[in-house]
Amino acid sequence: MNDGSPEEIEAERKMQFLYALRSKGVTDKKVLEAMEAIDRGPFIRGLFAGRAYEDMPLPIACGQTISQPSVVGLMTQALEITPRDKVLEIGTGSGYQAAILSKLARRVYTIDRHRRLVNEARIVFEALDLNNITAITADGSHGLPEQAPFDRIIVTAAAEDPPSPLLAQLKEGGIMVLPVGQSDAVQHLIRVRKTAAGLEYDEMRAVRFVPLLEGLGKDT
Ligand code: SAH
Repeated sequence: MNDGSPEEIEAERKMQFLYALRSKGVTDKKVLEAMEAIDRGPFIRGLFAGRAYEDMPLPIACGQTISQPSVVGLMTQALEITPRDKVLEIGTGSGYQAAILSKLARRVYTIDRHRRLVNEARIVFEALDLNNITAITADGSHGLPEQAPFDRIIVTAAAEDPPSPLLAQLKEGGIMVLPVGQSDAVQHLIRVRKTAAGLEYDEMRAVRFVPLLEGLGKDT
């Protein structure tokens, strides 16, 4: 327990956050370090800001959600990122996932169909001095051909199947992690490895993500 000083409350909060991650299967040391280094608070504005340290998805602008930290951790862990990797994320949302990726990878490209979310995320990246992230407003289901191929790809919105442009933009030896399934039904996280022999799929756990939609957001 603590005596209630701000430092002790902060330390206790951090310990509980990391404990929740570990107890849900996030065990990779580098991933835990990255998640310890990136405070989720600045990525959540308004009403829900006070709940940033709970292991819960929370609403953000444009009717979207910031993912649950343990799911962010499991997806990041499944990507097996190395420091030389160039990573593509589809679904910037709050920017939280991209910020964690930026601690592990050489370069991160992140795309969202809502301009407002991209602009707000850029402000946080700048404030936190995360200089290896490029945030782009676009329909991410086409990937980012001008920067392809990517060592790792992560999609944080659910499609019925892995979008074929993304599979095409994954390097041989690369890994892609994404939720698949119908938007309101059960979705599963899957991991795709691209090998010389073809694509290998393995299924992780059931999840619930917002759908991957076509085109740009109405605000854009
Ligand atoms: N990774 C985010 C959470 C993402 S929520 C975080 O860490 O906070 C899913 C996001 O996917 C939403 O912001 C939504 O706008 C975006 N999205 C949905 N379809 C998309 C598409 N076709 N291209 C790009 N972004 C898309």
